[in-house]
This record gives sequence, C-alpha cells and structure tokens, in this order.
Amino acid sequence: MGQQAHKAGFVSIVGKPNVGKSTLLNALVGEKLSIITSKAQTTRHRILGILSGQDFQVVYSDTPGIIKPNYELQEAMMRYVNTSLEDADVLLYVVDLEDKFNDDEVIRRIQQAQVPIILVLNKIDKARGSQVHDKLAYWKEQINPTTLVAVSALEKTNVEGLFAQILELLPEHPPYFDKEQLTDRPERFFAAEFVREQLFEHYRQEVPYSCQALVTEFVEDERIIRMRAEIYVERKSQKGIIIGHKGESIKKVGIGARKQMEAFFGKQVHIELFVKVEPDWRSKQQKVRYFGYDH
Ligand code: GDP
Ligand code: MG
Repeated sequence: MGQQAHKAGFVSIVGKPNVGKSTLLNALVGEKLSIITSKAQTTRHRILGILSGQDFQVVYSDTPGIIKPNYELQEAMMRYVNTSLEDADVLLYVVDLEDKFNDDEVIRRIQQAQVPIILVLNKIDKARGSQVHDKLAYWKEQINPTTLVAVSALEKTNVEGLFAQILELLPEHPPYFDKEQLTDRPERFFAAEFVREQLFEHYRQEVPYSCQALVTEFVEDERIIRMRAEIYVERKSQKGIIIGHKGESIKKVGIGARKQMEAFFGKQVHIELFVKVEPDWRSKQQKVRYFGYDH
C-alpha cells in the first residue's frame, strides 16, 4: 500500500459551564462557530465543527456545560450532552484552574463512555507558579485520563499540541463529511446564535437566559444578506428591557450581531429585529422544540 491510512472520528468537548469549551472549539477549527460570552450556559446546542486534512477528519462537538437540569430547555441541553457522549471516539474533558473534582454524575458518565479521555486544563494564561503542574497532577490522580494537555484556548497556547494528541487517538476511518464542510448547521442557525450572543452580551441576570432568537427571513445575494429575526422573551417586562429607552438597547444588539455576521459570512448584512413574548417558553416542551432544540 505505502499510503497512509485515513483517520476520522467524533471528538466531544465536555465539561462544566464557563470553562472555555466554545473558545476551544473555535480555536481548534480556526473559525468562530460557537458563541462565547462570560456568562455560564451560553451554549445551548451541540455544535459540530469539522476540521479536515488530506488524511484526517476531526468532527468536534461543542456542548452545553453540564448542569443539573431545572426546566425543559436545560433538559434538552443535557440531551445534547448525552448524545455527544454516546457518539464520541475521543472525549475532551475541559477544566479550568478553579475546577475541582467532585465525584458527581458528570465524571461517571464521562468514564462510562469507555473512550479515550483527554483532560484539557484550560486558561493557563492565568496560571501562576507551579499551578499548571499541580493541577495536572491533581487531575491525573482524580480521574486518570488517557492523557492530559494544558492550553490557553483564548491565547491559542498549545492548541497545536492538543491537536496532535487528538490525531494520535483518532481511529482509522473514512471521512464522515464532505471535506469542504465546516459544520452541520445551516447559515440561519449561526445568524440566530449571533443575535443570542448579543443578548448575553448586553443584558443581565435572568434576561439573556429567558431569550431565544428565531430567524424568520434570511435572503442572501452576492453582495448582501437581509435578515429578520424575532427575539422571544418570557415576560412583558422583559420585552421593555430588551428594547430599552427609545430602542437604544435593541439597537446595540442589532449592531453587534451585524458585525459578527459580516465577519462570519464575509459580506454586508442588514438586520431587522422584533421582540415577542412567549410566556414561560423554557418550561414548555413544545416551545423548546419549536425554537430548534429538538433531538
Ligand atoms: P464554555 O461555557 O465552556 O463554552 O466557555 P466559553 O468558551 O463561552 O468561555 C467562557 C469564558 O471564559 C469567556 O469569557 C472566555 O473568554 C473565557 N475563556 C475561555 N478560554 C479562556 C482561556 O484560555 N483563558 C482565559 N483567560 N479565559 C478564557
Ligand atoms: Mg459554550
């Protein structure tokens, strides 16, 4: 033969909220596929990011941070985590410097997956002294993963080293997706996510968690994308907050989302936003499905 075998597999990025899973996905694929904010539970879906080379294809899944679900939306979020665990050929268990081991269901489920686990210690740009060394020793002791890698997803430190480890553990397999394909989601999905990211960016407390963005129109020509989206909130008072005094707040959302979209799609974007109230939608299975959190 003489030819090198093709490697391909599913690599799931899991961990607690806010440890930097989405930042890591974006660093690994080199594109901003997954929205990032400083708030926990920004990621609500399983998002695939596909990285292909001549003799490999890595299908990464970013997932919501693992929590105990309190309502229907969070249950849907945890179902994404579960499927992602079931499909994985390799698991990236991401922790940050503060994260501690507690013998909870998270670890148990991860270990049950019976696939190689790479413990990824993230945010090492903030580490001091022997902290990286100590934390790696700690995690090795606690969960004994296949291997451990320390990175800064934000500063892209040692992301290449992590990638080398992933490639090492990937099974021989033909590609799962077209080599040109970057993700399994349509453009509209990313458009809605960029609006949602701005909602996390500009509002506080319960408001961003109560929001969902729904793209109702997405028309693209060579020069421009024209999009309409609806922002759903749970209560009338939240609608007022989203819009803000003389529409100042929602204007910021539109501008921010437009900038993100223009960078992502590489063309001009025009956005119109509308705010609607859907009482307690997060607790209603039908609504949660309607907003795209299907299984
Ligand atoms: P997720 O909830 O696990 O997906 O975490 P995100 O990727 O959304 O990141 C959560 C927060 O951590 C954001 O404010 C990121 O900018 C920050 N973050 C992610 N990776 C790093 C890192 O390597 N270093 C530092 N200092 N911050 C990071
Ligand atoms: Mg995330």
